Amino acid sequence: MLLEVRRLSVAYGKAVALENVSLDVAPGEFVAVLGPNGAGKSTLLKAISRAQPSSGTLSFRGESLQALPAHAVVGKGICHCPEGRRLFPELTVLKNLMLGAYLRSDRAQVEADLEQVYRLFPVLEERGAQVVSTLSGGQQQMVAIGRALMGRPALLLLDEPSVGIAHRLKLEIFDAIKRIQAAGTAILMAEQDAQSALRVADRVYVLEHGQVGRCGSSAELGADDYIRQAYLGVN
Ligand code: ATP
Repeated sequence: MLLEVRRLSVAYGKAVALENVSLDVAPGEFVAVLGPNGAGKSTLLKAISRAQPSSGTLSFRGESLQALPAHAVVGKGICHCPEGRRLFPELTVLKNLMLGAYLRSDRAQVEADLEQVYRLFPVLEERGAQVVSTLSGGQQQMVAIGRALMGRPALLLLDEPSVGIAHRLKLEIFDAIKRIQAAGTAILMAEQDAQSALRVADRVYVLEHGQVGRCGSSAELGADDYIRQAYLGVN
C-alpha cells in the first residue's frame, strides 16, 4: 500500500470529528471520500498531511507519518490541495505555482513540472503574470491543484475540488484529475458531489459522522441502494 490509515481519530476539544477511520490508497489509485457537510472529510485530509494532530496510525510507503511535521510530509511525497484553495490572491499565478516547489532544489525538474502543469491547464500559462484574485473560481482551483503538483506528489490530497465551480469548468477539472492519475500520481479526494466522485474514482469510502460507513469500488457503491437514495437522489 502507498497510504495506510488505521483507527485514525481526531477531536476538537470534546467534539469528535473522526473516530477510528481506516483507509488505504494503493500506488496510482484514485480514491474518493464521500460524505455530507461536517462528516469529517477535511479533517481526514488534514490529519494525513499532519496539519491536524490525530491518534491512530498513518503510514506512507511503510513509514510512519505520525511523528512528522507537515512540511516533512510534503517532502515524503504527499501534497495537499486544501478546501478554499488557500492561495495568495495578490500574487501572480506563476508565483503561486512556484510556492508549491519551495522545498525543491532540482531546478530543471521544477521547470519540467511547470510545463506539465501548463499542459494540464493551458489557461494558467496564458494567465501566468496575472494576479490570482482576478481569476474565476474554477481557474483558481486549477492554480491550487497546479501548486500541489509542483511538490511532485506520489499522493495528491484534494479537498472538494469542484465546490462552487461552474459545471463546464468542473468537468474540465475532473478530467484533469483523471489525467494526473494516468500520469502515475495516486489521488485521495474529498467530495460532496457523489455523481462526479463515482464517475472518476476507482474506489470510494463514505464518511458519515466521522466514521466510515460503506466502502467499495465505484461500481459497487453506484449500485448500492442506500448510496443511490442518500447520495444520488434515486428513489
Ligand atoms: P465540509 O464539507 O463542510 O468541509 P467536512 O466533511 O470536511 O465538511 P470537517 O470540516 O472535517 O467536515 O468537520 C468535521 C466536524 O468537525 C464538523 O462538525 C466541524 O464543525 C468540526 N470542526 C472542523 N474544524 C474544526 C475546528 N477547527 N474546531 C472545532 N470544530 C471543528
